[in-house]
Amino acid sequence: MHEKYYDVIIIGGGPAGLFAGIVCARNNLKTLILEKQVYPIDKACGEGIMPTGVEHLRELGIAPFVEKYPYHYFKGIRYISGKGRTAEANFAEGSGWGIQRVVFSSALLECAATLSNLEIRAGASAVYTLGENPKVNLNNTVLCPKLLIGADGLHSQVRKLANLEALFPKLKRWGVRQHFNVEPWSVFVEIYWGPGLEAYVTPVSVSSVNVSLLWDAKRYKPEHGGKKLFASLLKEFPELQERINKEDVMD
Ligand SMILES: Cc1cc2nc3c(=O)[nH]c(=O)nc-3n(C[C@H](O)[C@H](O)[C@H](O)COP(=O)(O)OP(=O)(O)OC[C@H]3O[C@@H](n4cnc5c(N)ncnc54)[C@H](O)[C@@H]3O)c2cc1C
Repeated sequence: MHEKYYDVIIIGGGPAGLFAGIVCARNNLKTLILEKQVYPIDKACGEGIMPTGVEHLRELGIAPFVEKYPYHYFKGIRYISGKGRTAEANFAEGSGWGIQRVVFSSALLECAATLSNLEIRAGASAVYTLGENPKVNLNNTVLCPKLLIGADGLHSQVRKLANLEALFPKLKRWGVRQHFNVEPWSVFVEIYWGPGLEAYVTPVSVSSVNVSLLWDAKRYKPEHGGKKLFASLLKEFPELQERINKEDVMD
């Protein structure tokens, strides 16, 4: 086999790309992941892995890599309305895991590093053509994998070029996230909601929680932007605001 031959090339090294890469390599496919950013890669996220995801991590032997790092289980979802109404349910089976995104990514990268037929190139923006015989241009070398996987995120160009865009209208939503040095007060992922705005609270370690806020640009206009944005959004949920202090902000 030519040394530049890959069975599979994956565009994007986020959670989906890394996971797909591990699965391919475990199935004896010589695999290359191209990631345009440099690790650690962070972005706004609720950082909760649902029980089915945890089950897959276990099945694929990835769980032991994750379990070395701080994480926290959650056993269900609790919705809390601004009017004080609450609805909650336990998962039918298993529990979810809350884990910081960059921590999860480190665990996946560690697992990937144990696989000799998986190569990851970070800081490498992929240039490619799709079709029966997809081609990827890497540093002026043309690679012809049997399979090209698009794991290039929410606004995937691969999906667009492959005409796989969803037919339903997309919601334009924005999100911000902050970690707080606060002992989790709940074993649920809590979702506080108001008109056009939601706050997700996920326990991500024994001593910290993730608070992410997500809003629909058409229905909600934040009062402030920039450094005041997070605090101005949080103000909409006094019950949640009471639980966390500014001094507890981690990042
Ligand atoms: C506020 C908020 C809360 C959320 N909460 C949760 C949650 O609790 N649980 C959950 O499971 N999901 C949650 N999500 C969704 C979750 O963040 C995404 O589903 C997840 O990031 C998707 O992972 P991915 O690997 O598909 O994409 P991404 O993480 O976006 O990774 C795609 C990667 O592809 C790379 N890339 C793109 N184009 C190229 C190219 N041409 N060449 C090379 N690399 C390229 C990008 O740099 C990027 O790193 C949340 C999202 C938001 C906004």
